[in-house]
Amino acid sequence: MKGVTVISHPLVQHNLTRLRDKRTRSQEFRRVFGEVAVLMLYEATRSFAVRRIPVQTPLAPAGGFRLQREVVLVPVLRAGLGMLDSILQLVPNARVGFIGLKREETTLRAMFYHKSLPPDLSPFEVILIDPMLATGGSAVAAMDLIAELGAKHVRLVNLVAVPEGIRRVRLHYPNLPIFTAAIDRKLNEKGYILPGLGDAGDRLFGV
Ligand code: URA
Repeated sequence: MKGVTVISHPLVQHNLTRLRDKRTRSQEFRRVFGEVAVLMLYEATRSFAVRRIPVQTPLAPAGGFRLQREVVLVPVLRAGLGMLDSILQLVPNARVGFIGLKREETTLRAMFYHKSLPPDLSPFEVILIDPMLATGGSAVAAMDLIAELGAKHVRLVNLVAVPEGIRRVRLHYPNLPIFTAAIDRKLNEKGYILPGLGDAGDRLFGV
């Protein structure tokens, strides 16, 4: 699918399989979720813009690079929180915004219950972290908010996606780069991904 990068790195796939396994309990699930997030972010940030800067080593001048834009991480609650700490180890200077969305039980529509983001996102590289791209409702609602705040450089990181969700995001945001570890078969009647890994938030937080 155009603009969708499936991260096939063996470590990502190995860890994703541990996350899919129903025998993986919360403590291990949380740890592996964080580990896989770092590997995914490494790939997702590969095309970050850099600018050349000079640097003086102890021995001689050298050419170096600096990220052109500051980074804002935007985890979608709850599951996005499971990736945040480990990603912050990779980009410790990043700012963090939060978007809380829940699915309305009957319509499966995404409803905001929390928003906190920098008021102007235009100068930043924004990484939207929505681990389970199911109906696409939460990703699109989060993107609408991010776009309203002027973001120009956004990428979406999922752990597992389904074609329906990708199509919905594509319909609204045709040029948004999407990074995922897997494109699964389909959604069930309750909007869960099959085979997926279950409810990521519940498994992360043992609820
Ligand atoms: N959210 C989840 O946590 N899991 C799914 O399968 C779909 C949405």
